[in-house]
Amino acid sequence: MAPRGPRKPPRRGRAKATEVTEAGRDPFANFGIVNPPVYHASTVLYPTLAEMERIGRAPFDHVYYGRQGTPTTFAFEKAVAKLAGGYRAIASGSGLAAIGAALMAFLRAGDHLLMVDSAYSPTRKLCDGLLKGFGVETTYYDPCIGAGIKKLMRPNTRVVFCESPGSLTFEVQDIPAIAKAAHAAGAVVLLDNSWATSLYFSPFEHGVDVSIEAATKYLVGHSDAMLGVIVTTEAHYRRVKTAASILGAVPGPDDCYLGLRGIRTLAVRLERHQQNALKIARWLKGRKDVARVLHPAFADCPGHRIWKRDFTGSSGLFSFVLAKDCTKDALARMLDHMEIFRMGYSWGGYESLILPADPAPYRSAVPWKAPGTLIRLHAGLEDADDLIADLDAGFRRLSGR
Ligand SMILES: *Cc1c(COP(=O)(O)O)cnc(C)c1O
Repeated sequence: MAPRGPRKPPRRGRAKATEVTEAGRDPFANFGIVNPPVYHASTVLYPTLAEMERIGRAPFDHVYYGRQGTPTTFAFEKAVAKLAGGYRAIASGSGLAAIGAALMAFLRAGDHLLMVDSAYSPTRKLCDGLLKGFGVETTYYDPCIGAGIKKLMRPNTRVVFCESPGSLTFEVQDIPAIAKAAHAAGAVVLLDNSWATSLYFSPFEHGVDVSIEAATKYLVGHSDAMLGVIVTTEAHYRRVKTAASILGAVPGPDDCYLGLRGIRTLAVRLERHQQNALKIARWLKGRKDVARVLHPAFADCPGHRIWKRDFTGSSGLFSFVLAKDCTKDALARMLDHMEIFRMGYSWGGYESLILPADPAPYRSAVPWKAPGTLIRLHAGLEDADDLIADLDAGFRRLSGR
């Protein structure tokens, strides 16, 4: 008999690296072709009145009308729901459209929303503009509040919105503690999970009710499509799907196809983004002209302990703070001549990006204080040493050497 080794912990289902290659496709329902086809559709025809009425009674479960999605949309949604471990997914025309639909599904005039202070700034604009105009009151809360959120809950608090780690500043939130307090007070927990994706943070195992991803970023992964996706528990699916389909911000089938294709390589891409970001972050940490590196995998990042407890990896996006404020001219000398890191909004593609940013105007609960300019990096899939050399030359231009 073979000697018995240590007993491995039972694994629940397959690894995510396997799921990404399998989810949302059925080749033998499609002539054996590996990938599902792209269906373009607005009108869907019904052969009889009875059939039209039958499908009309359950429009979310059939190919009903282009706005409810085509089989290509459903394939993308199925894959995302499977990876996230949720009930079903709802594709949206962009990450921001997904956030808007999810918030509007739950909030009515007179309701109260708790929004994390480190939220993606357009999410804040949605709260302070449209939602305020519709009679929804928003209170911003400290991303590190944890169980303390209990004190902010009001009888009319319907939604607690989290984004972990935070945009630009990367505080990691204690989602289980927040979810416990929110649920005890009858509120739902929405999470913007774009940074980690469900590969590195499983939302529904940590108490989230509705998980949102800007699929534009890592799922699409090639900077060539706008796409969002919402995954919910069974209890909330109908409400969110109804809101999303009434708002009508649906993606085209070609973009759903690109999202689905991106998912196939998500595990390997994220691994490389992770390694490159870690190597660059370690290098930055050793520099005297860098005051802080804001990256959840480092012990001095607010919430690092929670990241270690709840996440299974870190992605390619992080920030650092210069030791001193620099002049606009010095910053331009650095940024205008980068050879690999390019300047531009968004992130999650294969290419590296660099962006100066000031979180201060987007903070109200906890003012942002830092010695110098904040720079956000997206570590792409290039060679890490080439990326470091590009940054090193940039620092030399910045200091005028
Ligand atoms: C980019 C981004 C979004 C919005 O996604 P779009 O597809 O650009 O609308 C939402 N949340 C976070 C954290 C993002 O970085």
